[in-house]
Amino acid sequence: MRALLQTEGIGMTSRRTRERMIDRLIEQGISSHKILDAMRNVPRHLFMDDALASRAYEDTSLPIGHGQTISQPYIVAKMTELLVDHQHMKNVLEIGTGCGYQTAVLAQLVDYVYSVERIESLHKQAKNRLWDLHIRNVSYLHSDGGWGWPEKAPYDGILVAAAPPEIPQALLDQMAVGGIMLIPIGKERGVQELQRVIRTETGYEIESLEPVSFVPFLSGKQ
Ligand code: SAH
Repeated sequence: MRALLQTEGIGMTSRRTRERMIDRLIEQGISSHKILDAMRNVPRHLFMDDALASRAYEDTSLPIGHGQTISQPYIVAKMTELLVDHQHMKNVLEIGTGCGYQTAVLAQLVDYVYSVERIESLHKQAKNRLWDLHIRNVSYLHSDGGWGWPEKAPYDGILVAAAPPEIPQALLDQMAVGGIMLIPIGKERGVQELQRVIRTETGYEIESLEPVSFVPFLSGKQ
């Protein structure tokens, strides 16, 4: 487990409040100890405005500005578990850095994270925040994630945190053989499904996992 600032809070951000989030994740079926430890280790309340910090450990998504949200703890844990539980990941491409919470969890569990965000101010804030938390195994790019990050490909894992209507071809192209991609697919908010793609020697295996609700995957930079 990599070092993070020791950020013991008081009141709603206390150790007990964080521990309740972990208990809830276990009740929801997250069983991997390394995922639970990573979630325990990352101070979620530091990824949002002070006004919302008291709600940081509730099982809900919360606003992070620019109409975007920090993903709910369960979905962060679930996607991370599906990505890293069965194989060692040397490099993971994350599309949708947002506030950087999912990035920080992933960085505890894989060798290196490449994280792409289309909104410049979120990209910069996340970069600074993770630096302050002493997380060094991440590179950040301000770009439209629909293009992936071809210079660093192929990736053992790709995790997409916004929902496109279909899987972008560039992301399929940038998967390593044996690599895994987790991506929410759907046209409307609330009627998306989480899909897992595995690249084989000869093509791609695509499996639908569970209904999810993500913000839309948008093209262009902002
Ligand atoms: N895991 C993040 C989720 C943030 S919400 C967190 O917990 O904070 C999804 C993010 O995806 C938003 O910040 C949004 O701006 C970004 N996004 C949407 N479409 C994108 C695209 N095409 N390329 C890069 N980022 C995108």
